[in-house]
Amino acid sequence: AQHRADARASAASAPITDGALADGTAVPLLANLGNPAAAAEAVALGAEGVGLFRTEFLFLSSAQAPTVEQQREAYTQLLQAFPGKKVVVRVLDAGADKPLPFLNDAHEENPALGLRGLRALRASEDILREQLTALAEADAATDADLWVMAPMVSTVEETEYFTAVAREYGVKTAGVMVEVPSSALLADHILASADFASIGTNDLTQYTLAADRLLGSVASFQDPWHPAVLRLIREVGRAGADRGKPVGICGEAAADPLLAVVLVGLGATSLSMAPTALADVRATLLEHTLDDARVIADATLAATDAATARAAALAAAARTHQKETQQ
Ligand code: PEP
Ligand code: MG
Repeated sequence: AQHRADARASAASAPITDGALADGTAVPLLANLGNPAAAAEAVALGAEGVGLFRTEFLFLSSAQAPTVEQQREAYTQLLQAFPGKKVVVRVLDAGADKPLPFLNDAHEENPALGLRGLRALRASEDILREQLTALAEADAATDADLWVMAPMVSTVEETEYFTAVAREYGVKTAGVMVEVPSSALLADHILASADFASIGTNDLTQYTLAADRLLGSVASFQDPWHPAVLRLIREVGRAGADRGKPVGICGEAAADPLLAVVLVGLGATSLSMAPTALADVRATLLEHTLDDARVIADATLAATDAATARAAALAAAARTHQKETQQ
């Protein structure tokens, strides 16, 4: 515990640099945000942009759909905080843990498997179109590099649908979240029409292990170190490399420093997290080369469960580190 506390203190006081591995490979470190008011703190902590802006957080208490004006104001405020920087905005992700009554008010026995995310937006397409209108207007008024993505995409057809609608509004970079195993397994096809993928490890873990992320009695299943989750991430990483398209991570997994190294080894090209996690992840990435990260990632894939995957990563990280210090 003392060692960990010392490491955190030293990471927190280290200079803020852009995210990179020991060999100089760039790994942009981005922020997960739910409110434009949090942008200044993220910038102060060294966020190189935003990897996930959860738009639904702005409207959780609303009974009615937000107006275009309301949304334009919020998105403009967000984009203004990141001139010249990448800002990935997620369109409304209604359902299960994020109820938005104006998108889906029906009682569902299994809301995580119900009309949520892009499915709900598609059922109320006018709300999706108004959101894209507001985003296009905010983009035109600011200098950030706006990327827009859809949540809870489970088919190639949904990807084609979303990217086509987004492009109607002039969105230059339109992508999808990979949060469902079907999308991870078909990532090569998904990335044929999407400009990028962003892996939501929170939901990807929930759906891979079939354990409701809100249910305490099955909380032990919600561990992104599980090799089944990591193998799915490898599929997306490979597809991104083959197609030359970015693959970000925006679930909580990116905030675990050693797991962040594994994710890069599996092919992630950027990491997005709660801003308070940036310093730890930045410091740990600097201890490993891309070759190391791949070796450490491979060690986890052979494991049978989350605990052994984590132990295998720790052992492989110690081995690669020792080899380098001897050289
Ligand atoms: C995720 O599922 O990993 C994710 C980033 O989205 P959210 O946590 O908002 O569902
Ligand atoms: Mg999610």
